[in-house]
Amino acid sequence: MLADARKGKIDLILTKSVSRFARNTSIVLEATRKLKELNVGVFFELQNINTLSGEGELMLTILAAFAQAESESGSVGAKMVYQRKYEAGIPVQYLERSFGFKKDERGVYIADEEEAAWVRKIYEMAADGYTPASIKRYLNENGVKTVGGAEWIDSTVFRLIENEIYKGDYIMHKHFVNEERKLVRNRGEVDAWYIEDDHEAIVSPKLWQKAQDALEAKRDYLAEGSVIEEFTEENYPYMNRIYCARCGHPLYKGIYSNGNRLNWGCSGTKRYGKSFCEGINIPDGVLRGAWHFDENMYIGEKQTDKGKKEFTYLKEASWKRRHKKKEPEPIPENTETEYPYREKIFCGLCGSRLVRHVNTKNHKVIWVCNGRKRKGKDFCDGTRVPDIIIKGWGEIKKDIYIQRKDEKNGKKRYSYTSKKPKGADRA
Ligand SMILES: [Zn+2]
Ligand SMILES: [Zn+2]
Repeated sequence: MLADARKGKIDLILTKSVSRFARNTSIVLEATRKLKELNVGVFFELQNINTLSGEGELMLTILAAFAQAESESGSVGAKMVYQRKYEAGIPVQYLERSFGFKKDERGVYIADEEEAAWVRKIYEMAADGYTPASIKRYLNENGVKTVGGAEWIDSTVFRLIENEIYKGDYIMHKHFVNEERKLVRNRGEVDAWYIEDDHEAIVSPKLWQKAQDALEAKRDYLAEGSVIEEFTEENYPYMNRIYCARCGHPLYKGIYSNGNRLNWGCSGTKRYGKSFCEGINIPDGVLRGAWHFDENMYIGEKQTDKGKKEFTYLKEASWKRRHKKKEPEPIPENTETEYPYREKIFCGLCGSRLVRHVNTKNHKVIWVCNGRKRKGKDFCDGTRVPDIIIKGWGEIKKDIYIQRKDEKNGKKRYSYTSKKPKGADRA
């Protein structure tokens, strides 16, 4: 299979599970890495892992943990085996692909000074109250890459801060392989051992703990508002009295985390988009804690330089003294003056004219295939282009045929040519 992959015969390998792919997980790890270098992905159905996916880096780390957990749970006296290895000076492999560590000439994991400096910076920032999201931005802005050469995402920062390996400790059996051969977090199902001073530390236990406390405080903040009750005025006395201080539109309830978290957001943003109002997002617990008003309140949001949010509350009378409720721009008339290109745009699929369609809900203009509109979807799949896209193309001198392309990341791209599509029959 590897030979075929090298010849470019394979794009993606589908396999039932990690255990089916190869008997030994370290072989899996080695093979998937080689394949990844050849840009060939492996999809493990049972574990739902695609090694080429956006979080493939994380996935490979998980696979490494899988390998470790598997070898640990393979023997009855795992701890004994581990201790014997440890005493014999046999290097353990679990720090492989951990940012901040490298192997020395004996094969023992030690701090990689260049990366370790970043690790210390991450812990200092976290202890100082910076959020994982703002730390991620800082790392990416400074060109720091993960072990796999990827950009940082919130969860890679979060996992790094939480990881006890950075203070030199190691939890054996933090994860284990269950009966379905899935790697799961050990929540007491199997014995775990916490090994102190297992290897060279990068941060002091004190700094490590400070960072945990700061993360914990952040989590408490998010958990506020985690009890969601029936939506009555009794349970939520403010539910019809809260407005966005940016645009004056009422706040609506947004439920997150599978129904476990309640936030209030700007309905102006929801309806008309970010360009209309930047929006606000206030956890219910924060609002509840601050609420002692019996009148309408306009709520503002500010981001501190540490990436935390602060909220302000303004009574309606004082808000109205300086602001007016923002209304969306009226939809212009459908004339040549407003849309100089209106006679020149056609469907890139069937060649029909594009006609204007107004979405009254969000006040947006889109241009749609008239062939599809009049003759149905059997005639044409239909091109739909937001007006703002066409405006962005500047002056259009001759007829253009517009097509949409959906990109892998879910984004839509529009392009046009002056060539009529094949077999075009203008409607
Ligand atoms: Zn708003
Ligand atoms: Zn069409």
